[in-house]
Amino acid sequence: MTSVRPPRPGVPASGDGVRADTPPGPGHAPDVLVIGGGIIGLVVARRAAERGLRVTVLDPEPAGGAARVAAGMLAAVTELHHGEEELLELNLASAALWPAFADELAEAAGLPDGSALGYRRGGTLAVALDADDRAELRDLHALQTRCGLEARWLTGRECRRLEPMLAPGVRGGLRVDGDHQVDPRRVLDALLVAAERAGVTFTRREARGPWIRSGRAVGAVLDDGTLLAAGRVVLAAGSRNGLLEGVPEGLLPPVRPVKGQVLRLRMPGGIPFLSRTVRAVVRGSHVYLVPRASGELVIGATSEEQGWDTTVTAGGVYELLRDAHELVPGLTELPLVESTAGLRPGTPDNAPLLGGTGVPGLLIAGGHYRNGVLLAPITGDLMAEYLVTGLLPERARPFSPGRFAPVGAGVPGSRAAHDSVPPIEEGV
Ligand SMILES: Cc1cc2nc3c(=O)[nH]c(=O)nc-3n(C[C@H](O)[C@H](O)[C@H](O)COP(=O)(O)OP(=O)(O)OC[C@H]3O[C@@H](n4cnc5c(N)ncnc54)[C@H](O)[C@@H]3O)c2cc1C
Repeated sequence: MTSVRPPRPGVPASGDGVRADTPPGPGHAPDVLVIGGGIIGLVVARRAAERGLRVTVLDPEPAGGAARVAAGMLAAVTELHHGEEELLELNLASAALWPAFADELAEAAGLPDGSALGYRRGGTLAVALDADDRAELRDLHALQTRCGLEARWLTGRECRRLEPMLAPGVRGGLRVDGDHQVDPRRVLDALLVAAERAGVTFTRREARGPWIRSGRAVGAVLDDGTLLAAGRVVLAAGSRNGLLEGVPEGLLPPVRPVKGQVLRLRMPGGIPFLSRTVRAVVRGSHVYLVPRASGELVIGATSEEQGWDTTVTAGGVYELLRDAHELVPGLTELPLVESTAGLRPGTPDNAPLLGGTGVPGLLIAGGHYRNGVLLAPITGDLMAEYLVTGLLPERARPFSPGRFAPVGAGVPGSRAAHDSVPPIEEGV
């Protein structure tokens, strides 16, 4: 194994005055080029820069992507699904990082503390409106209990005592104090500032794909064919990762866009409306209401396999309002201030892709599906560790893209080929 590039002292300097769009100087190809500056690309870029690597993010609109639409629930416990116990471990580990991550990110961006990013520990209440919903919630509760998670069953009356705006028809619910929330838009804005201050440079252009020469990733090809050289390339283009050109066929597992429509309402100032996230399955559709300290009430989200379409539809808005109204009838009085749609990057097993792709020098941090905000802190740490040491950390191994590849050591695309890459060398 070749030598690891030692972290350069002083790199995480204040960076005040560092401008976005500043390319690295001539002859100074970055160590790492991150394609995509959504929440995942930004956390990876920032952490890698803090560990001493020279990093450039390539994105026409950094700090955008699906997280601009997302509700920001940090819902490791209430988002638990059968068969996703391995993902649960990762989700819980990232949820545990969030309080310190929110504080240090806020400080790095010049904000007082994590509450300035909308980080709130109000907890979550998952409720049932009819016998079917209640059976589904009971099943979730049993799974949570088997996994050793904290969730308390409440009667309908106990639910309404906690949240008086709930409909009288609520028949029971699960109180989960450990599932918190954050405002992803504020997180994105803070990440952009913090990344710049850590020395990350930005090229506001679209990538056609990674630049692969002699079987190794050596940079990116821009939309107009310009080549941008780099030591390593990290694919972090969210649901568009699967559209990038140049990756040999079959090396990347399919990432598909899963559309979600979301509404934003404004709660009345001074009057407590909801104090925590409230969610339910209404006639088979998931609906949640996330109240922010800023007065914003986020209602989400549809889940539609509609390709690349991000139109807000009358049907989507109708369904969200109908289901949310069944939970909290009083919300129809609130002003509706925004309706948006975004694309979750879904993978075949709903878990993220973290690690190498089988092409030397080409990594991926993607496929975070419905948990990209929750998983941001741990993704940044794991990918930076991988970039610096060349070894995929133990915790990331179940999420290596190699899990979808045929078993066989040394074969490009195999698990072994995905799990280690040569570390960054001097002078790349
Ligand atoms: C409706 C909805 C609700 C959600 N709610 C939650 C929630 O409550 N909690 C939670 O944890 N997660 C939630 N998510 C999921 C979360 O938003 C995603 O998992 C997360 O945003 C994925 O981050 P990403 O950076 O990988 O991709 P994205 O956020 O999609 O960002 C990708 C970035 O790549 C850039 N890009 C794309 N193509 C190129 C290219 N060719 N060249 C250069 N740049 C490119 C884009 O401009 C964008 O900035 C929600 C998502 C949706 C849609």
